[in-house]
Amino acid sequence: MESPLQKAFSSDSFRQQAHTLVDLLADYLEQVQSGSLETVIPYKDPEENLTFWQEDYEQGQGDVTEFFRKTINHSIHLHHPRYMGHQVTPPVPVSALAGMLTGLLNNGMAVYEMGLVSNPLERILSELLAQKIGFDNHANGLLTSGGTLANLTALLAARAAKTDVWENGNTEHLAVMVSEEAHYCIDRAARIMGMGSEGIIKVPTNERLQIRTNLLEQYYQEATDKGLQVIAIVGSACSTSTGSYDDLEAIAAFAQKHQLWFHADGAHGGAVVFSDRYKHLIKGMNQADSVVIDWHKMLMAPALTTALIFKRGDDAFKTFQQKAQYLWANQHSKDWFNSGKRTFECTKLMMSVKVYAILKAHGEQIFTDNVEYLYDLGKTFATLVKARPNFELALEPESNIVCFRLLHESASLNELNANIRKRILEEGKFYIVQTTLGDKLYLRVSIMNPLTTETDLVALLDEVERLGKVVAS
Ligand SMILES: *Cc1c(COP(=O)(O)O)cnc(C)c1O
Repeated sequence: MESPLQKAFSSDSFRQQAHTLVDLLADYLEQVQSGSLETVIPYKDPEENLTFWQEDYEQGQGDVTEFFRKTINHSIHLHHPRYMGHQVTPPVPVSALAGMLTGLLNNGMAVYEMGLVSNPLERILSELLAQKIGFDNHANGLLTSGGTLANLTALLAARAAKTDVWENGNTEHLAVMVSEEAHYCIDRAARIMGMGSEGIIKVPTNERLQIRTNLLEQYYQEATDKGLQVIAIVGSACSTSTGSYDDLEAIAAFAQKHQLWFHADGAHGGAVVFSDRYKHLIKGMNQADSVVIDWHKMLMAPALTTALIFKRGDDAFKTFQQKAQYLWANQHSKDWFNSGKRTFECTKLMMSVKVYAILKAHGEQIFTDNVEYLYDLGKTFATLVKARPNFELALEPESNIVCFRLLHESASLNELNANIRKRILEEGKFYIVQTTLGDKLYLRVSIMNPLTTETDLVALLDEVERLGKVVAS
């Protein structure tokens, strides 16, 4: 007689469940990618969804395939060409298979012995990105769980390079400079590091929502006059709301003048390192001390998979200098293969395998193709918006993030567009989001799916127009 535990680990039932799941997912992909399934988001109120799952839970143990099916049906469908919402990629299917592989192998990564495959692959991928950024062979990097954590890690490295807070605690009031439009995680990281509101110096942006580099000197002087010690400046490449690229060259020059750490947050838009046509947008990134690029945004890998690349690889070892005798034979050696010495995580997912699987199956060109197709489509969408006199484009897009709104002579435009977006969410045939620029509310798309076409974009504008009439009346 098999015990319940033996049964749970049975290779036979795994084989059967896995085949069933793969068939389910392949059917799902076919349905959503062809658009034969109309729904992109099966939106329900939080309470309604909670009740649904509570009832499921109360039924107790049951058929896991049925649970998988329910999970699919009740999820948002990133592979649907009409998904254009937040900046998360529909993973290229082979990387999801790598996710299943690594989920089962579950090799941690902090120490080399637990990450025999993932540590070398992580190094290879870091070197690939470093070379694409234009760093020399002193550069090095790591993978970590998301852009938010990667940005915090970069700022911790900056602090380690500029101060001895790690040893002595805070003695000075430290500060970082960043654009008003930077991702909120920079603000959060600075607060975690004890800088408080005063220590986050938010520099205003221009009409293209890029940091106003002609104000950097003034803001820096004001901060130092107040007694703040500025340690770093962060450039957005690109910003989250509007996909605007800061002038990284000007930021680099400013950072150098004042001996500041220059961090480039390329979580979304750093992926243009793979495109000869678009990499002019990140001119100056090769002068950054650290760079963040999310593999799970523009580079087709499942979340969370984020690269943090240091111009001088040694800097990464300064970030977390702790003794962990049971982990590392030599605390002070700069061994690339014990990734836990340089990352926040101890046990870490085998992220590198998911990215490497994409490279192995499709080659590097797939990243170029994805970035260029989606950025081109952003421009196409802007052209479509401008061709309709009753629409307004917030600004010419530099990326695949486009903000726009419907105009109407009578109604409050903010209310009108917010209501349109609410209707779109409830009807579920498209997924788009909204953002506020100044005091104006805009509809916002991030075109993340390489199977989205111009036809889908035209259909979206038609739908916004149609709903505009419904809402206004
Ligand atoms: C998405 C994003 C982040 C946050 O990254 P996560 O991977 O979602 O944690 C940070 N900065 C920018 C510019 C982003 O676009």
